[in-house]
Amino acid sequence: MQDRLLRVAVPQNISPSLFAGRRRSGAIVRLGGQTMGTEWSVQAVDPPEHWRGVIEAVLSRIIGEMSNWEPASDISRFNHAPVGQWVTLPHDLLHVLRAGLDMAAISGGAFDPAIGHIVGRWGFGPDSRTGNEDTSCWRSIEVEGYRARRHADVALDLSAIAKGFAVDAVTQALLDLGVANLLVEIGGEVRGAGIKPDMQPWWIDAETPPGLAVPTLRVALSGLSVATSGDYRRFRMVDGRRLSHSIDPETRAPIAGDVASVTVLHESAMWADAWATAITVMGCDRGMVIATRHGIAARLIRRNAGIGQEYMTPAMAAMLEE
Ligand code: ADP
Ligand code: MG
Repeated sequence: MQDRLLRVAVPQNISPSLFAGRRRSGAIVRLGGQTMGTEWSVQAVDPPEHWRGVIEAVLSRIIGEMSNWEPASDISRFNHAPVGQWVTLPHDLLHVLRAGLDMAAISGGAFDPAIGHIVGRWGFGPDSRTGNEDTSCWRSIEVEGYRARRHADVALDLSAIAKGFAVDAVTQALLDLGVANLLVEIGGEVRGAGIKPDMQPWWIDAETPPGLAVPTLRVALSGLSVATSGDYRRFRMVDGRRLSHSIDPETRAPIAGDVASVTVLHESAMWADAWATAITVMGCDRGMVIATRHGIAARLIRRNAGIGQEYMTPAMAAMLEE
């Protein structure tokens, strides 16, 4: 068994000017609520009074664009439009969709933003309507300017990337308000900016799978995001079997590999979220190779006969302070 070591990761571009000339001052205020089937929470130093309204407006706008659970959302409108018909879509939805399609290309289709019908069939989506369940659903999506269309009956599902995007969007809205020191979390995806009043960065321990003894990974979240995908987080029990909500498009079934969790550090929470899911689906060997090739800081924990085995990409290893 490995020791419960503590490892500390610090972004390499952390700016000394964050700390220079600053005095200990300000108070941390916390807010929270429900969104996207999970919980959000924000901590900020000296936020203005109306900040809850600003955060909630961002979240409800994103749900109105990207939630498959809202029949009137833009994504639902797109999924129900006739095959072949162009649909004009809002800016943020297009941004997330393009990122999802990029992630699909990078991961060789392991990440698939048009996997909706397969997700639905396994009971993880809002409807179990079936349609095209080909292995590369994303190839049936075409985006051009401000519009997109389906070339086959596939359904967009941006659940594996939209929470991360929402973390980025809430962060940006607060930065625009002049709040420079904050920590934003939605369902385990977290982004930090600036520092705390005690001059410390926002320290976050990456989630670890329960029951596996693995070293703690403590991250200084300053200008950085962390996302963790895990087989223990969201799953369904069917006939005594634990079904992962991450689906392998190649087998069209929940992943059945040995990846217990994947943690990704990235400037953008959206990319951290997408990469965490993509690496989980690709599995240890391919996932770590592709992440390494793209300079992604990732840590993967593999279940091996009840023991957690840890793997890191060079970019993650480089962030660890010795
Ligand atoms: P995790 O926190 O484990 O990464 P996410 O909430 O980010 O989980 O993503 C899981 C959701 O993503 C699923 O509920 C499903 O809607 C969708 N999904 C499942 N498999 C894939 C896949 N291969 N590519 C893209 N999205 C997927
Ligand atoms: Mg994800």
